[in-house]
Amino acid sequence: MIKIILSAILILAAACSSPRPTADTIVTNARVYTVNAAEPWAEAVAVRDGRILAVGSAKDISRHKGGGTKVVDAGGRLVLPGFADSHVHFVSGSLNLANIDLAGAKTLADIQGRIRTFVEADPRADWIQGRGWMYPAFPGNMPHKKFLDEIVPDRPAYMRCADGHSSWVNSRALALAGIDRRTADPEDGRIVRDENGEPTGALLESAAHLVSKLIPEPTPEETLAAIRRGLAETARLGVVLVHGLGGEFEALDLFDKLRREGSLTTRLSVSMWIDAPGPTARDWQAYEDARAKYDDEWISLGGIKLMLDGVIDSGTGAMLDPYEGQKENKGKLFWERDDYVKAVAAFNARGLQVSTHSIGDAAIRLSLDAYEAGQRAAGNPDVRNKIEHAEDIAAVDIPRFGRLGVIGSFQPLHANPDPAWIGSWIKNAGPEREQRAFAWQAVLDGGGRLAFGSDWPVVTVDPWPGLQVAVTRQDLEGKPEGGWLPRHKVSLAEAVYAYTMGGAFAMHREKEEGSLEAGKLADLILVSQNIFEIDPHRIAETKVLLTMVGGKIVHDAR
Ligand SMILES: [Zn+2]
Repeated sequence: MIKIILSAILILAAACSSPRPTADTIVTNARVYTVNAAEPWAEAVAVRDGRILAVGSAKDISRHKGGGTKVVDAGGRLVLPGFADSHVHFVSGSLNLANIDLAGAKTLADIQGRIRTFVEADPRADWIQGRGWMYPAFPGNMPHKKFLDEIVPDRPAYMRCADGHSSWVNSRALALAGIDRRTADPEDGRIVRDENGEPTGALLESAAHLVSKLIPEPTPEETLAAIRRGLAETARLGVVLVHGLGGEFEALDLFDKLRREGSLTTRLSVSMWIDAPGPTARDWQAYEDARAKYDDEWISLGGIKLMLDGVIDSGTGAMLDPYEGQKENKGKLFWERDDYVKAVAAFNARGLQVSTHSIGDAAIRLSLDAYEAGQRAAGNPDVRNKIEHAEDIAAVDIPRFGRLGVIGSFQPLHANPDPAWIGSWIKNAGPEREQRAFAWQAVLDGGGRLAFGSDWPVVTVDPWPGLQVAVTRQDLEGKPEGGWLPRHKVSLAEAVYAYTMGGAFAMHREKEEGSLEAGKLADLILVSQNIFEIDPHRIAETKVLLTMVGGKIVHDAR
């Protein structure tokens, strides 16, 4: 017995006297919210070799301080894991930073004013491009070429809707594309026409491509420069990890170039986009080649992105029942049912995660059916298939997210209940289907997992307004009173989780990222205010004072 006690004392003594590893950086005097349930709050974090060495009290962590340790005094402020955005289009988001930003413009006058300012500042541009308008700003919830002709009569102008599913062009662009009353609608698209059959300048879904294909592609150098601006933007806003769901796969070599020169500051999981009727032999090869090449903590392959329908706002999302007041229109699936089910099964059989854009209840149901069959056949419930947007889930399908382990990939700011944003959504869905709009809490209640994001450039990549809408279900001015369908709100802890661990899990990176725990990558942010203590209506004002990725400070606004 004495022997045992003695040896125990010896072991303890050895543990106490062994030198503690010295940190490269210590962030201390902080309120650290770790997103680690075992130890939710701490005061300090020690970082070494790009990873977290320890999380704990300021006193404990100070023991890792050595001669060369850099100390960041957080001044009592909040430290969080860096945010994950589970749905972006990083390249188009970055390129879009140089175009007219129409996001949040609520009136036609505001939209026209922003375009005018841009045109006056850059009178030489061959094409005038912008993005971010929403339907309710226009009479009849649809834009018209005449409003654009008034400001840009001489050059083609191309303005994408915030949702990316519709475009608004001027007469010059229609003429260049040869679109007139005799032009037939393309498959999966619609040229909106007036009562005389004349195109109005609103182009839905694939019809927009008739014009967009004329816009010169940016050169690789232009794209690279844009990505650098995009990376500065994500670092500034505290986003350290993104799931790229369209456009990134084709730009992998550019991201890789940035990584090699040490200037990649946001980590990426990248999916390959596959259109109907499914993958070709070349697609498989391209994916496997990329997977062999990119598989580390900076760039990894994140499976396959499919798109099953349009959006409710323009009546193109695939619904089980007709749109309100449009007896003939239930939207449309972009895939034949069998092709889609077969494609999902083929991807899951190879262990590949599928992320499907499914917005209407019919599209969501088909995704759930296909995922259920695909996962079962593959014997792999951990493939973590995702449904992107899932805006209007049929009530009976809500518990299937939890049951099947399907991740609900939501973008809280898309549910911004400002009528200028959501008005046509509500009108098209009708009162009954409105009740289950963006049912985040219901998915959680059914045991499902959430991953939050932006779908940048559909809305800003700034997660803070999204976080505010997630917990208030109000617009950024606090309307409506009590929130829009407040039962679908989530708690702040759940929302932060969905923007950190939820995203890391959805990208199969939860062992490395998503929370502040010893051994994980040192990706953290220091922010201007403690979102757990303030009025939730002020969350959107949060400023990121410092962003650290892999132990390196990539944004510093202290
Ligand atoms: Zn998207």
